[in-house]
Amino acid sequence: MSSTPEIHVRDLYKSFGDNEVLRGIDLEVGQGEVVCVIGPSGSGKSTLLRCVNLLEEPTKGQVLVGGTEVTHPDVDIDAVRRRIGMVFQQFNLFPHLSVTENLTLPQRRVLRRGKEEAARIAAENLRRVGLSEKADAYPASLSGGQQQRVAIARALAMGPEVMLFDEPTSALDPELVGDVLAVMRMLADEGMTMMVVTHEMTFAREVADRVVFMDGGVIVEDGTPAQVIGNPSHERTRHFLSRLL
Ligand code: ADP
Ligand code: MG
Repeated sequence: MSSTPEIHVRDLYKSFGDNEVLRGIDLEVGQGEVVCVIGPSGSGKSTLLRCVNLLEEPTKGQVLVGGTEVTHPDVDIDAVRRRIGMVFQQFNLFPHLSVTENLTLPQRRVLRRGKEEAARIAAENLRRVGLSEKADAYPASLSGGQQQRVAIARALAMGPEVMLFDEPTSALDPELVGDVLAVMRMLADEGMTMMVVTHEMTFAREVADRVVFMDGGVIVEDGTPAQVIGNPSHERTRHFLSRLL
């Protein structure tokens, strides 16, 4: 890990009304590191990711991305979001646009890239996710797994420094999960910094540098996959893992 973590979360709190959802999260993700976040439903995993890219405003605490404090009141939120790619459980593609147009529109609108450059970068990233032949297709004609790979390519086309994945395979039929995980594995191998909320324990075990177990808005365990999944030290972690098997 380099000296400055790529993502640094410091004493982060988030409440919705009187529901305190994050209760003092401290987390560092180094450059090129892959951190899988696991934990029961409602433990605050999505809220944590959403605080990192400012889809939610933290109640207290700090988030730094690449050394910049993104929670600083004067920060340019759009500039921050450009550095962070996010992939959701629901793919959120524009249904009325072709696959290529789904990739070029945000590049042109947000990054002000010209038509040809945006098209070239779209083609490059469709190739990366193995979907060059679907360039002119519409989302409805694709399988869920293909749509999710398009969503990943769309995020990559923006040239993010980090990628956040929130249960990217949870909405997919089981036979489509593998292709999406393979793309994520490729990104990890290429050195992308990634935070991945997932229930895919095989992926976490094989790809993650670290696994973080959250429960009740706190990090209960943070360690290597072998430690957290293979030999958890907390009863809450053991209980959670036993229910997944
Ligand atoms: P997880 O992703 O681990 O399932 P979430 O971060 O989605 O957990 O949710 C944690 C808690 O925060 C839940 O109790 C949920 O109802 C609440 N919550 C999440 N988002 C909102 C919101 N926008 N408004 C109110 N409550 C929310
Ligand atoms: Mg969630």
